[in-house]
Amino acid sequence: MTIKITIKSAVPAYCYHLHNFTTQDGFPNYFCAQQNVNMKRLLLFCFAGFILSAGHAQAQNTNAEVPKVYRETAVRINDLVHTKLDARFDYSRSQLLGKVWLTLKPHFYATDSLLLDAKGMEIKTVSLVKGTKNIPLKYTYDGLFLNIDLDRNYKGGESYTVYIDYIAKPDEFQAKGSAAITDAKGLYFINPKGEDKTKPTQIWTQGETEATSVWVPIIDKPDQKTTDEIYMTVPAKYVTLSNGKLTSQKTNSDGTRTDYWKMELPHAPYLFFMGVGDYAIIKDSYKGKEISYYVEKEYAPVARKIFGGTPEMIALFSRLTGVDYPWVKYAQITGRDYVSGAMENTTATLHQESAQQDARELTDGNHWEETIAHELFHQWFGDYVTTESWSNLSLNESFATLGSQLWNEYKYGKDAGDAERYSSMQGYLQSGSEKKDLIRFHYGDKEDMFDAVSYNKGGAILQMLRNQVGDSAFFKALNLYLTTNKFKSAEAHNLRLAFEEVTGRDLNPFFNQWYYGAGHPKLDIKYNYDEGGKKAVVVVSQTQAGDKLFSVPVAIDVYNGSAKKRYNVLVQNKVDTFSFDAAAKPDLINFDGDKIVLAQKTENKTLDNYLHQYKYAGNYIDRREAIDAAAKKQEESRAVELLMLALHDKYEGLRSYAVSKLDVRKEGVKAVAEPELAQLAQNDADRSVKAAAISKLGEYGQAKYATLFTKAINDSSYTVSGNALVALSKIDTAAAYKEAQRLTHEKTKGKLAAAVSNMLIQYGNESAADYVLGSFEAMPLSQTKFEMLQPLAAFLSRVNSMEAFKRGVNAIQQLPLDLPEAYRGQITPFVEGLLKNLQKSKTAAGLNDQASYIDSQLNAGSKKGF
Ligand SMILES: [Zn+2]
Repeated sequence: MTIKITIKSAVPAYCYHLHNFTTQDGFPNYFCAQQNVNMKRLLLFCFAGFILSAGHAQAQNTNAEVPKVYRETAVRINDLVHTKLDARFDYSRSQLLGKVWLTLKPHFYATDSLLLDAKGMEIKTVSLVKGTKNIPLKYTYDGLFLNIDLDRNYKGGESYTVYIDYIAKPDEFQAKGSAAITDAKGLYFINPKGEDKTKPTQIWTQGETEATSVWVPIIDKPDQKTTDEIYMTVPAKYVTLSNGKLTSQKTNSDGTRTDYWKMELPHAPYLFFMGVGDYAIIKDSYKGKEISYYVEKEYAPVARKIFGGTPEMIALFSRLTGVDYPWVKYAQITGRDYVSGAMENTTATLHQESAQQDARELTDGNHWEETIAHELFHQWFGDYVTTESWSNLSLNESFATLGSQLWNEYKYGKDAGDAERYSSMQGYLQSGSEKKDLIRFHYGDKEDMFDAVSYNKGGAILQMLRNQVGDSAFFKALNLYLTTNKFKSAEAHNLRLAFEEVTGRDLNPFFNQWYYGAGHPKLDIKYNYDEGGKKAVVVVSQTQAGDKLFSVPVAIDVYNGSAKKRYNVLVQNKVDTFSFDAAAKPDLINFDGDKIVLAQKTENKTLDNYLHQYKYAGNYIDRREAIDAAAKKQEESRAVELLMLALHDKYEGLRSYAVSKLDVRKEGVKAVAEPELAQLAQNDADRSVKAAAISKLGEYGQAKYATLFTKAINDSSYTVSGNALVALSKIDTAAAYKEAQRLTHEKTKGKLAAAVSNMLIQYGNESAADYVLGSFEAMPLSQTKFEMLQPLAAFLSRVNSMEAFKRGVNAIQQLPLDLPEAYRGQITPFVEGLLKNLQKSKTAAGLNDQASYIDSQLNAGSKKGF
């Protein structure tokens, strides 16, 4: 799953925006500095978003003490074999009328009872199916568990079928226990009565972690697997999606249709899926299997631009794992108000609505592609072989994290793969989770497992393992793991055994350190040259807190000119000293030559070393570290030289990164960078570079660029266009304001919507309220939206219309409420302060109605946990 947080659908968009912002434009301290708020708190907030970007998270207070309860893998008394469900939907009550036939058998020991998860249901009948007869069975039901007395003792392996007639009432079900699961209602009716004219009517389900049992009585544990068939009876105007194959459709006389979906291969209950709605279905194929994309109809023309890489991804993952895509079809569907980012339901992945991007948004790149790859790789790691418990969740999520990196590496080159790997690794390093084991048997709530450790750290560890054993052994071991455990569940030891079998090595030390242990090394690295002894010397100290020392194989590269000599060493002590023969002082000694070790480090490299590193060491992280080092010393000519080189980096992500790092207030930078920036602003093929260059060029405030900026305002990319409008406003306010007014009649999103709003706020009057408020409300939760808060409040201070004022205050107040509860506390004080200031200005202006409206809203807000 990607990003599972119990909040409104906008979240992953916000996560991904932050993610892009952080990796490409540098850290967003513009906002933090501008708003004069507690820097640390907001940084924390920004980082939280950053972590989310890589996955799914509840990352706050991440080292909090957890109860010392051993989370045992669910005991298998009865095993699910087959599930047959007849589902009808009552849209007026948001209920499912279900009849289910469950075939099971005792796992090993004989038993005369069956315990099912069944959350918040009304149970009507429970019986045993014997031939053509149903024999009533005794049961007790407490709202969470259905405890059934079977008619007799059943031996291990002896199958039986129970029939249950029930009503699922997801809206009435309130999960007990932690706040994190109160939204886990499994089955979601979206705008079921069609009362909201702006929203389609849809049904979708979300099973992970254990919410499928809200809509079907089942053993809702990841170590169970079952084949299934689902009959869905829905209004005939809708299409349906479920796991497996659509086998038949029958039109009924009452205006409904019954679709029959059949899943002939076993999978875990949390991967069950049902989706219903008015969708366009766009079809592709892979080796004769149907690949389909269910999108809202207006996105039909762009569906292939969003999802069309899927067949090539399937081919890649089939080739790398040596396991050809195992399922009968692969469909992807979008869901309104989805509570998570995306979910890998077997053969039927659900994406949140922000996967749907229009053609102009797509010119900035498909921001959903990594998620598409992530969920797809789960079809192998998670669906085909499933984690046996939430403690072992990383067996699902580390691989999905790896999967999207592998896709980027294959499709867009090693730099793109490394860029994603780097940003994911940073997400973990900045999450403050060094006390959590990757595989952990003690946690507060199972939802807590979906964090930067299970995802980001797990992915980084797999990449280290890949580097240590080599690609061919790595993928061979993955093949062995998959084929050995297919259609079953697994724990991390199964992975270790597969790697040991293939490599012939004892991997207990590696797994004990990285899977069953916590943290990562913090390394201080000192490079010296011993003139007398003609030795290059590297002193590595482990400085992490506590007694734990890491044992890490590391490659050290020693450079003279372009010639490189590699030494493989083992870092394992508190302080290790390595020395190598070197007739002359090396131009560069590069610790961790592949930039693969999961560690935080400090190094005493000089700018000359970094310049050499940028030119010759050459991988993405080498170059990025060199840019970072140069960016800190822009008064030095070597640093400027390096940054100018980086403006022409072969990888667009580093070009735009270098642009963003330039400090053009420094004289030494200003003059040399200007022609380069003008060039990039006009000619770079990549929109992110173009946008960054325009923005930077705007800082020069030169009237001669007016034509360039005006032209760029009409660029198809919202980001280029928005940045150009801001740049133009710095040299010709009147012209920019005129452009902004013109653009209010066009579709604007993202950076462009924010830029237009800002112009209207600064230079327009109250008549701009409709556009300003409308575009703020429509904006997904993102860095851009946060940056709009202050200008919007400034605008409202000048607004006299009570109606517009209320709408604006409500929109501002809604923003923290749209965040997951865990993050709300970090932004709420800022928003509260903003509203209180606004209130003061209204009181001062004698607008008491408006002032008291804020009062009432703040009071009401505090009741909502605002
Ligand atoms: Zn996932």
